[in-house]
Amino acid sequence: MTEGIERVARLLRAARRPVVFTGAGVSTESGIPDFRSPGGVWDRFDPREMTYQNFVGTEAGRRKYWEIGRHSYPVMRTAQPNPAHLAIAELHRLDRLECCITQNVDNLHQRAGLPEEKVIELHGNATRARCLACGAPYSRDEVQRWLEEEGVDVPACPRCGGIVKPYTILFGEPMPAGAVEEAERRARSADLFIVVGSSLVVYPAAYMPAHARHAGATLVIVNLTPTPYDAHADVVVPGKAGEVMDAVLQRLRSLP
Ligand code: NAD
Repeated sequence: MTEGIERVARLLRAARRPVVFTGAGVSTESGIPDFRSPGGVWDRFDPREMTYQNFVGTEAGRRKYWEIGRHSYPVMRTAQPNPAHLAIAELHRLDRLECCITQNVDNLHQRAGLPEEKVIELHGNATRARCLACGAPYSRDEVQRWLEEEGVDVPACPRCGGIVKPYTILFGEPMPAGAVEEAERRARSADLFIVVGSSLVVYPAAYMPAHARHAGATLVIVNLTPTPYDAHADVVVPGKAGEVMDAVLQRLRSLP
């Protein structure tokens, strides 16, 4: 691991357009479970129920969704950025970060201090919601209040009665085209592409390292478990995102 940290620090110092790509693994040390690790979300819920079609198509689907969301949102809301989020925000301050492309919806990169315009969210943001009919925006905190204090179990728009949905992408739902295009563009123009805490099996997000690699970027993977891209990476640092990224940052700071 020490050799990997040294290499990543040196690559970061030399890079002209370093891009970081994060997945659920960057937030597990903040107490937000990922989907695939033991004890993760998929051990407790059936992902087939969490589809866009079920959500917009049936009241039962929405009821189930909100039953889960009612309990999972407070975990996300009270979670604090961990050393990995803080290290990535610090890379920005050191002018060592072109942008952070994330699959996460937890807002922790921004809360760690990364400016909004530096974060490209491929799967949306769980702190906001909107009415699918009239477009009225609601904060997810407000929706949580309807669930917890007003006894609502399937939130509807107070203005028009339409379906209220968080700004997160469900299975079967198209990804936000603007964010995907921007992420692809940044991945292709990166000279260093660092994956942190992603299984790299969720597509189309997992095409991003391939775009970067094909365009000539050096590929680094920091993850607790092996990924399908490890064989194509220049550096693989197995380990916890918080520990590895913090160590990389310390080393970067001390490089002559
Ligand atoms: P994933 O659940 O498929 O994989 C997470 C990866 O992170 C795994 O390979 C795991 O071994 C690794 N990991 C776990 N803890 C780690 C740590 N401390 N340090 C380093 N690696 C660690 O996650 P994914 O690839 O991001 O895809 C799942 C999808 O679920 C994402 O697209 C995301 O939208 C969504 N999701 C988001 C959150 C969140 O916002 N925090 C949480 C769960 C799921």
